[in-house]
Amino acid sequence: MSADASKYVIAPPPQAAIRVKGSDKLFPVRRIWCVGRNYIEHIREMGQDERAPPFFFAKPADAIVHDGGVVPYPPLTKDMHHEVEMVVALKSGGSDIKPERANDCVWGYGVGIDLTRRDLQIASREIKRPWEIGKAFDASAPCGALVPTSEIGHPAKGRIALKVNGAVKQEGDLNQMIWNVPETIWKLSEMVELAAGDIIMTGTPAGVGALVPGDKVECEIEGVGTLTVTIGKPKA
Ligand code: MN
Repeated sequence: MSADASKYVIAPPPQAAIRVKGSDKLFPVRRIWCVGRNYIEHIREMGQDERAPPFFFAKPADAIVHDGGVVPYPPLTKDMHHEVEMVVALKSGGSDIKPERANDCVWGYGVGIDLTRRDLQIASREIKRPWEIGKAFDASAPCGALVPTSEIGHPAKGRIALKVNGAVKQEGDLNQMIWNVPETIWKLSEMVELAAGDIIMTGTPAGVGALVPGDKVECEIEGVGTLTVTIGKPKA
């Protein structure tokens, strides 16, 4: 327990973090932001407006599940979907960060899954309620090990794919993002002040679909990394 723990009325919660590839160090996570509808084929499969500006939602930092982990099948849903996404991890932030300098804020990149209780998300959308119950549930943000920009630079193209039990379900290319990473940082930083430890899930390509207990989910982004999780039984 840290030296100043005595000032809190209960023990401070553990620091959420993501592993770093090839290291025993961790990246501490402050907030998880997600971009809605950032690949055209996914917008089409969801039947949404193809010309809308980017919008964002958030997940709690403690929703992260590490590579190799188990995601307990969440309550209340009958339709939990996978959405493979590139994760951008920020080492600095600010407000109104122009695209030309947005890459300077990035520490590294990884592979994540924006797990979604699709039935609850759509029910919320239809009655104009917030999306949290569909998007921000426990263990809804698996994230593979991060790789620093010093090793891979700033990937703007490369295959992004997800397999369920060995069968390819999602496949696209980072170059199909409607709003690229610098533009995404710019638009989000107009809405909130970004800071070190914030991560952004940058949207999913087409092919989203349902997962069930026992499924093995394998994700890969060319030049970035991999992520494997298993869907477990509901928590007792
Ligand atoms: Mn998503």
